Amino acid sequence: EGDSKDFDREVESVCPFCGVGCQLSFKIKDNKIKYVEGVEGPANENRLCVKGRFGFDYIDHPHRLTKPLIRREDAPAKGLNVDPGNVLTHFREATWDEALDAAANGLAKLREDKGTRVAGFGSAKCSNEEAYLFQKMIRQGFGHNNVDHCTRLCHASSVAALMENVGSAAVTATFNEIENADVAIVIGANPTENHPVAATYFKQFTKRGGKLIIMDPRGTGMKRHASHMLQFKPGADVSMLNAIMNVIVEEQLYDQQYIEGYTEGWEDMKSHLAGFTPEKMAPICGIEADVLRDVARTFATAKAGMIFWGMGISQHIHGTDNSRCLISLALMCGHVGRPGAGLHPLRGQNNVQGASDAGLIPMFLPDYQSVMDDGVRSAFTDVWGSGDFSAQKGLTVVEIMDAVHAGDIRGMYVLGENPAMSDPDVDHARHALAKLEHLVVQDIFLTETANYADVILPASAWAEKTGTVTNTNRQVQMGRPAVSPPGDAREDWWIEVELAKRLGLDWTYTHPSEVFAEMKLNMKSLDNITWDRLEKTAVTYPSLDETDPGQPIVFGDGFPRAEGRAKFTPANVIAPDEVPDAEYPMVLITGRQLEHWHTGSMTRRASALDALEPEANCSLHPRTLRKLGVEAGGMIRLSTRRGSVLVMARADRAVAEDNVFLPFAYVEAAANLLTNSALDPYGKIPEFKFSAVRAEAVETI
Ligand code: SF4
Repeated sequence: EGDSKDFDREVESVCPFCGVGCQLSFKIKDNKIKYVEGVEGPANENRLCVKGRFGFDYIDHPHRLTKPLIRREDAPAKGLNVDPGNVLTHFREATWDEALDAAANGLAKLREDKGTRVAGFGSAKCSNEEAYLFQKMIRQGFGHNNVDHCTRLCHASSVAALMENVGSAAVTATFNEIENADVAIVIGANPTENHPVAATYFKQFTKRGGKLIIMDPRGTGMKRHASHMLQFKPGADVSMLNAIMNVIVEEQLYDQQYIEGYTEGWEDMKSHLAGFTPEKMAPICGIEADVLRDVARTFATAKAGMIFWGMGISQHIHGTDNSRCLISLALMCGHVGRPGAGLHPLRGQNNVQGASDAGLIPMFLPDYQSVMDDGVRSAFTDVWGSGDFSAQKGLTVVEIMDAVHAGDIRGMYVLGENPAMSDPDVDHARHALAKLEHLVVQDIFLTETANYADVILPASAWAEKTGTVTNTNRQVQMGRPAVSPPGDAREDWWIEVELAKRLGLDWTYTHPSEVFAEMKLNMKSLDNITWDRLEKTAVTYPSLDETDPGQPIVFGDGFPRAEGRAKFTPANVIAPDEVPDAEYPMVLITGRQLEHWHTGSMTRRASALDALEPEANCSLHPRTLRKLGVEAGGMIRLSTRRGSVLVMARADRAVAEDNVFLPFAYVEAAANLLTNSALDPYGKIPEFKFSAVRAEAVETI
């Protein structure tokens, strides 16, 4: 903390890391951020976690890209065996004109080549306006919908289930509503590490007597505050949740009036659940029948209950089924649309909600309007003035990489994503990136993905740009530039506009506010939310009029579905894609840890965060380590059918025996070399939370 002498300017903005969307103040001296403090935002009320408070100096890291780069003609062939230390020598510096021409010409050439496709990965780290421009460029410029982003790797299955059963892809209540709840379920999420400021509200809730039910294959940090901790077997979500709902039906604890007034499909759901008795499901999910009964009674008889979930739910081949169960559980208890009641998938990236809302997904235009609807498409092309595009859903992240291997996609534009680290079975993705005839990467660092680029466009970090973002609570907030981008780096929206012009598009935007104004023309969610308002304050959508700060709770009087009714969709138990066997006897679970964000490109270059967690690590139960003959701190080899990594082992009683938890931030032990690319059929999300793995001790000298 400092006094006014420590800085000569301060700029209020939003944290660039997680979906909580904490508001903060950058304290700046000599055009450098000196430190950061939390301010009074609607989601954080002055609080920040270690990433928001100390994870900012990556923006001054010497690795920042400061000049556009073009691959040298004499550079070695792209491939997996390139020495990362030498990659920069494969490129030469270029002017913006030269680099933008090269980027656009390469993409335009493929566009004209009959039968080939260019795909785009946009970013949930960019602003709403930048996400909107990105999807518009792919649709208007290339005539199809092959545009996606990291929602496909995080909550796409939750979105699929919410759209199907509730009719809306966002949360029904803010996480802060927990203060009005009596009971809350947190399942497949680890808020103390991944949504730390939200976790502080959850802990306060338990301090005033709220009952917190944690369900997770790992014992999380919230366990100490919980009334119930259900450490169930990985992948057994549906069996456990169906058993809980079976009890609610059998003991008639459901809310008949709510079900009759606001839902459909109840009778089918009731008969479906009859077979899922706690006794039958207990051995499958690993939770005793009495505990399942107690949880069912606690949740169903509460006055107001909330359900929070994370990627432990969504990243399975049955991720959509998992979310369907949670939605059904809330509906049958009438725990939606009231103070302290609601469904809340905790969104991951700072702007994954906003990027999805802005149409950065292959099946939906902005506001989740189907690309298959002729009226919707023409509403957009009317505003855009040109650019008829396909009525066919585009390909998703993993499907795009498969299409590259098949030769159907030959060029890509990747903005702020790092598929060479984040995709499942990542060697498959790296081979695809190497195979591309033309790859344009726009980023702030030479990421693992940029290694395969033909043209690299140096972009700005969040603290260097203007734009709006939307957090997990549906709160739209203004991001403001604290400092200038280094060297020739530019704001992403500017780069997108310049690239679009060279692709022949008539784009004349001179400021993100003009993009926001265009978005409002076809996005009802932004009704009554203007750039001017956002300059002054955050607004939660929906906002009912120009003075309404927005609605923290929605669907109290019906759902945006036919006849205003939400739907019960029964789910069956499906085994994981890859069941452990004699060769790969354990279960690998991947995820994040408190100090590092996603593929680590930012946080591993943030000095305080890197000092706290400098080394690739994995966690196993002490008994598992003993069985393997490994001391805590020793090295182990983890192998799956797709690859193997060497990594330091930690003893952690929170991890169940015969499970391994491996964070995916470390390139030197890239977790995704191991993961399985099998997809959930609805959300098309890979099964990051379950791979069969073998762990072995490794002799170190
Ligand atoms: Fe940033 Fe999330 Fe931490 Fe808030 S909780 S400071 S948004 S990382």
